[in-house]
Amino acid sequence: MTIQVKLNMIDNGLDFLLKSLDTIDDNDENLKYSIINLHAGIQLLLKELLFQEHWSLIFQKIEQAKKERLISGDFVSVNYETLIQRLKNIAEIQLDDRLIEELELLRKDRNKIEHYHFVVTPDILKSRIVNILTYFIPFLKAEMVEEGLVDSNDESYTQIIEHLNEFEDYINERMLLLKERLGQIDIILKCPVCYREAVEFNDETDVFCHFCNENISSFKERYIENFVDTYSYVKDGGENPLHECPDCGMDTFICLDGYQYICLTCGIKPTQDVITTCDGPRCNGEIVYREEDGASFCEYCMDYFKNA
Ligand SMILES: [Zn+2]
Ligand SMILES: [Zn+2]
Ligand SMILES: [Zn+2]
Repeated sequence: MTIQVKLNMIDNGLDFLLKSLDTIDDNDENLKYSIINLHAGIQLLLKELLFQEHWSLIFQKIEQAKKERLISGDFVSVNYETLIQRLKNIAEIQLDDRLIEELELLRKDRNKIEHYHFVVTPDILKSRIVNILTYFIPFLKAEMVEEGLVDSNDESYTQIIEHLNEFEDYINERMLLLKERLGQIDIILKCPVCYREAVEFNDETDVFCHFCNENISSFKERYIENFVDTYSYVKDGGENPLHECPDCGMDTFICLDGYQYICLTCGIKPTQDVITTCDGPRCNGEIVYREEDGASFCEYCMDYFKNA
């Protein structure tokens, strides 16, 4: 006998998503629920894709999978990391790298809400939601609508698309208004609050996001946490993306695009043309200013030569 199990993950997932967009213009207290609902909705829809592959895959421990437990709901369901792994490796579903990045940022936000007071404005939230859904909706369309799991006329689904279009128009309009001002800034950084390319960085005490329209506190820490991949370096080795600054000596000197560098503490913005790695024997290829004539050394290696 086959037991028909209906978990309603699609309907619930879409409802959560819609709710997260619907409540955005509510009072500030409710804004955090928008993030919580968005996260919950996406998780449910992704779990449904695993369920389609095989119902046991939504159990964190497959060896404990049992239909009775599935029906009663008495089980630990798959965590985020395992969910993504199984989608890729078992269900062989294509997940765009940018989508993965956005989902990871959403997961971090979701956790922050639980651990400390999360302050966010409707504008910022719209900006974040647009970023996430710009990648998630095409995925949903390809994997669920075109596969017949979600009806393209489904009321929640169509409303989600409508909201997204509305938000997108709004964000674009606001960015257009900022265009002239942003055009006057030599180097614009991505904001760890709204995720728009709209930050004017002078030094860590003077960081202004033109989209958020305010100074960003703890910018350095938040930027590194969100946009600098220190994890791969720790896990797989290779080059640390955080270099020691040749000016202030803090480990907050990063390369933006292979050519342009910036220090997230003191704000110096040299290009590859004026810096190089130390030729000395004592440091590990520290970044130093390029000497016009001869070799370039860091202070540590210079001292070594002087005392040798
Ligand atoms: Zn911002
Ligand atoms: Zn510096
Ligand atoms: Zn050196």
